[in-house]
Amino acid sequence: MDTDVDVLVVGSGPVGATFARELHEAAPHLTILMVEAGPRLTDGVGANVRNLDLEDRRCVQRRATAWTGQTTSDTGRADGHLASRPGTFLVRTADVSGDDQTGMPAAAMSANVGGMAAHWTCACPRPGGSERIAFLGAAFDKAFDRAIDLLNVTNAAFPATEASQRLLQKLSTVFDRGRPPDRRVQPMPLACTPTGQSLPHWSGVDTILGQQQRLTIVPDTVCRRLLHRDGLVYAALLAGRHTGETHTVQVRAVAVAADALRTPQLLWASGIRPPALGKHLNDQPQIVSALALRENGVTTPPGPARETADRRDLLTGVLWIPFHEPDFPFHTQVMQVGTTPIDVPGAAVLDRPVVTWGRFTTKEIRPEDRVEFSDTDLDDFGMPRMSIHYGLTERDRATITRAKRDMVAQAEAVGDFFPGSQPRLLPAGSSLHYQGTVRMGQSHDGASVCDPHSRVWGFHNLYIGGNGVIPTATACNPTATAVALAVIAAGHLTAKLER
Ligand code: FAD
Repeated sequence: MDTDVDVLVVGSGPVGATFARELHEAAPHLTILMVEAGPRLTDGVGANVRNLDLEDRRCVQRRATAWTGQTTSDTGRADGHLASRPGTFLVRTADVSGDDQTGMPAAAMSANVGGMAAHWTCACPRPGGSERIAFLGAAFDKAFDRAIDLLNVTNAAFPATEASQRLLQKLSTVFDRGRPPDRRVQPMPLACTPTGQSLPHWSGVDTILGQQQRLTIVPDTVCRRLLHRDGLVYAALLAGRHTGETHTVQVRAVAVAADALRTPQLLWASGIRPPALGKHLNDQPQIVSALALRENGVTTPPGPARETADRRDLLTGVLWIPFHEPDFPFHTQVMQVGTTPIDVPGAAVLDRPVVTWGRFTTKEIRPEDRVEFSDTDLDDFGMPRMSIHYGLTERDRATITRAKRDMVAQAEAVGDFFPGSQPRLLPAGSSLHYQGTVRMGQSHDGASVCDPHSRVWGFHNLYIGGNGVIPTATACNPTATAVALAVIAAGHLTAKLER
């Protein structure tokens, strides 16, 4: 490993990859070292494991989290307990017999090359209205266009079928009135390449990196601490995950893209503790349900053989009902499936096409919703142990009640809920879309961690990235937004380094 690099990128998820790609493209001579706490899972650099055959995929997913001893499950539950989704592990194992909205019991993370994007489902909607970071103005739209380019986002992931067109029409009748064209019901923008077959090729970090030449990725290596003086990070302490062996690398700049929980963890461990660090933690309350469509005869009925498949492979299309204020402060995904990725009693024998009808709502942002770090206890990676303090407000509960009620009323146009599959709120943390913990702000007023270029306040060469930087209450899937913010940050960093 180099002992002297231009830029150290911490974390190999889509945001770390965006820093690497953008820096390389703008200044190919820069040396970039990327460290990743977890292992390499596939031959391709951070490829999406959903492109693998089922057996290989299961094997890789098990390898990603076997060390935790936790159970994973597509439905988020196993044996009556919370389980993380394949490829992720829970921050802490918790029994949610009590209030599953307090303390964020379903909070989870990935540790592998490619980050969560080795496992993600690739929805990349554009934020609208109050989801947007107003002070970034047109710069955000330009960066978002670049993000969808990097992620290879398309609205044509699935071939249109008679059934999908009919569903689109039905939903449009219910939702489109009063919306501008770009906020009407439409196929979900998905990060993938259509293949002409039933399933597309899903994007991962390999898609973002492209043919990146001068990047070294070192797996199983934890960045334990950033060494800094007078607002300049000059070195980083790296440790072998399994060997514990440490060494120091000299840097000209650092980009920390270690997710919304571990980016503040590294800053904390490094003694960089601005007042807003870890605060304003913001998850998206997630409501799920499943419907049998009323029209029959188009989708193959689910049969017993399919039950052994990864149910996400049974997708035949995803529709998007965009967030649109004031009437619809929700983000809705309608997934057409042969059978369903959530537990639906009776779905396996029902001979009608199924859609899952899921909704994210916004959360009221409060500083007291936060992740904290211990000064004495360490986690499995040798980093300060985290604890999460989190709860819903009265306003959140009212928003969730409204979201559920509207789902029931609006579903009427489409089909019938399966018994037991009426809209239900998942345990807090289920969305995997944690935001706000290293939030961006317009001024250095103590309520934010970084400036509009994602540079940590008070530092010349320390940039951060990921969903944690997003300061607004969003309902849409956040990764494309986080990638867009990293595009802006990388542009700023390149200009500084080149000066
Ligand atoms: P991550 O992808 O989490 O990567 C961070 C990496 O940093 C990790 O690999 C971690 O090991 C590493 N790291 C942490 N600390 C250190 C350290 N100290 N030293 C070295 N390395 C470190 N989002 C969407 O927008 N749309 C979707 O449809 C969607 N679907 C999803 C479905 C699933 C099943 C999952 C698991 C996630 C999904 N997500 C989705 C979430 C999406 O994957 C994340 O938003 C995205 O990956 C975040 O990117 P990131 O680079 O900020 O962080």
